[in-house]
Amino acid sequence: MAFVGAPSSCKLPGLQGGTPFKLSSLPCPVLKARQLEQRRGRCWSKICAVAVANEKSRPNLVNLTYDLGDDATKTDDKWTKPIRVAVSGAAGQISNHLLFMLASGGVFGPNQPIVLQLLGSERSINAIEGVSMELEDSLYPLLREIKIGIDPGMVFEDADWALLIGAKPRSKGMERADLLEVNGQVFAQQGRALNEVANPDVKVVVVGNPCNTNALIAMKNAPRVPPKNFSALTRLDENRAKCQLAFKAGVFFDTVTRVAVWGNHSTTQVPDWVNAQIAGSPASDIIKDDAWFKEEFTPKVATRGARVIEKWGKSSGASTAGSIADHIRSLVRPTPEGDCFSMAVATEGNPYGIAEGLVFSMPCRSNGDGNYEVVPDFVIDDWLRDKIKASEQELIRERDCVSHLIGLEGASCSITEDTMLPGEN
Ligand code: NDP
Repeated sequence: MAFVGAPSSCKLPGLQGGTPFKLSSLPCPVLKARQLEQRRGRCWSKICAVAVANEKSRPNLVNLTYDLGDDATKTDDKWTKPIRVAVSGAAGQISNHLLFMLASGGVFGPNQPIVLQLLGSERSINAIEGVSMELEDSLYPLLREIKIGIDPGMVFEDADWALLIGAKPRSKGMERADLLEVNGQVFAQQGRALNEVANPDVKVVVVGNPCNTNALIAMKNAPRVPPKNFSALTRLDENRAKCQLAFKAGVFFDTVTRVAVWGNHSTTQVPDWVNAQIAGSPASDIIKDDAWFKEEFTPKVATRGARVIEKWGKSSGASTAGSIADHIRSLVRPTPEGDCFSMAVATEGNPYGIAEGLVFSMPCRSNGDGNYEVVPDFVIDDWLRDKIKASEQELIRERDCVSHLIGLEGASCSITEDTMLPGEN
């Protein structure tokens, strides 16, 4: 197997046997370092000098790492210690957009070096090597190391962030309950791996569907990681809702604030127009059209993915990647005063009376340290309450279906409805 990021002349068959070895004699990393040097217009002291195979290299885990020493903190006063970001489903189309955003500094910022740890499978490992080569060829100065592998117990090692994007797609005729079971097994395994080898304060973002319940499963299988560190992606729904509100009001989207999405990332989701604001006023005072809010707005948001496929023939990879970037940025930057962002989080202690023991999308805010709190002052009118209740009931049913994976006794699975969002099978 070729080393990630090294041209084919760097092929090292020795890795297949898992033998540790040194790469210091190879010209390839030095060449890359020179290219980087030219790009930055200065010498990158240690990165120019030597590349070593990490002593943890094992079969199925390719790991080309520069001998950074304290280089990462010293080459530029503003640079900080590299963060390790693990990504599953790294060969999928969402990752194909997201990885380049991560490596370019577009997510964690222009002074944050990054290590990418990419999880694939037997079927995708070649593709992941290809993606890694493209990442290397892009000469991103912030990208300091790429690890790829098929064993979460190796790939998640020391991860500061884990973006769980890979999930088995639903095959023809497959029930939602079956999908929960198949993916549940995957997320239970990944939760255990995070528990064992990741940074104990790892922040875990679950994207693979059914993402709320997958996040719950991963969380319950990782007791060493605080439950508050797990979230599931509903930001794409929020972004789609903002987009529709802005179109309807004829304003630029950045004036649309306090848009929460409640509940499950499914057709029972509740994009909240009751608390939404446009230019600081209630959205319903600007768009005076209750029928539109109640009958058109939510289906428009929920079927947006299907519309994209209809027009383009592909599912929403780029906008999902953008929304994952938004999700992370919202956690590492302070939320503007009075605003919020949506993500699905543990319901323990929530101020809205939503059943505990679920992962439920709610309005959140952060002071930018990677943590969040649920915003407590949203008005829940009767219309919202009914919708939120329906999504809560659905998540309780999903939880019952995976009870054996999360240590719950006495539940039985009874999901009959198909509430997958169109375009996300
Ligand atoms: P792709 O089909 O392009 O890629 C999915 C990846 O998942 C593949 O690379 C594959 O990688 C992996 N995969 C397939 N089968 C399994 C399995 N049995 N176990 C673990 N991983 C598997 O999909 P996308 O990138 O477009 O979407 C990824 C997920 O994100 C889907 O579940 C989709 O429904 C969900 N999604 C969620 C959204 C949200 O807002 N929460 C929005 C849009 C999509 P490998 O072969 O390496 O396993």
